[in-house]
Amino acid sequence: MSTSFGEWQLDDPTDDPQDDSFKLPSDHNPSSPSDSDSASTSSYGYRSPSIRKTMRETYCDIRHEFDVWHVNKSVKKKLVNAANKKENQDLQTWLKSISNHLYWSCSSSHGDGEECVRRWKSLLHHIVGIHRWEEDGEQHTCHHAPLTDDEQRRKRWMKVDSPAYKSLKSIVLDKNLLRDLKQMALFKHTGPLEVFHSSMLKYTQKRLHFSYDAMLARTQLAVMDHNANIGKEQAKTKEGQPRFACAYSKASRQWTARPVYERGEQPFRKNMMEDTLRMRDESSIEDWPPSSPSQEETSEEHCSCPPA
Ligand SMILES: [Zn+2]
Repeated sequence: MSTSFGEWQLDDPTDDPQDDSFKLPSDHNPSSPSDSDSASTSSYGYRSPSIRKTMRETYCDIRHEFDVWHVNKSVKKKLVNAANKKENQDLQTWLKSISNHLYWSCSSSHGDGEECVRRWKSLLHHIVGIHRWEEDGEQHTCHHAPLTDDEQRRKRWMKVDSPAYKSLKSIVLDKNLLRDLKQMALFKHTGPLEVFHSSMLKYTQKRLHFSYDAMLARTQLAVMDHNANIGKEQAKTKEGQPRFACAYSKASRQWTARPVYERGEQPFRKNMMEDTLRMRDESSIEDWPPSSPSQEETSEEHCSCPPA
């Protein structure tokens, strides 16, 4: 959607294949929560009825939000299934734009659930080339800059009476999706948590068995590693420009630009090694694991019988 907005930029499909690109802004960092204030009072990522109910009844003072990435994934799946039908081919070129529009609707509505839904639904007008419309007696317009006559002419707008548009409309207006969108206006994502899980796997591989002590120590290491590396800056080129890597997706058959981050560092490892060497020379160090009391001591400790 030839739209320029806070989080993403992309272009509508046109006859020019160069126009299909999109890019992330330089300050986009999936490791950084987007809103630390509300993150502390929000829970996100789960849409199961039982969790909804628990949140509503037991934690009614916490604002329950859903993760945009997961919702987007399920919407995208429906769209791809629809677009794969022969009669819906027109939808194919719009998939990426629709997905980005969902992110934009959530990231730009500043916590207002109704506004988030309104922005999401506006795509049904834009996609047929209408950028000003009336709804519930109010005038609405798209948020992008006005299109030139040439741009308006070149875009491959959908047709209102086409099967592709009808399929899209049923997905966009799905009542469950509209309900969930109201709980996505704070633009929460579970990225940092997933980064931590990935860090955990590095220290506690699932295919190996660890003792309790080893598991505890490795989990602590994973936490220290994560804390040392959270909020990394995007890497820069020699010229000071933010670095991106291009990746091709076979599923969507499109190239995407992903930000490249600075290499992770583990300064805590050096500190730990120094501490270990220092403690080795100190006499106050206790054995680890602590030696367990002998069988004899244990039985004496727990025996209440008087000696024979
Ligand atoms: Zn528009």
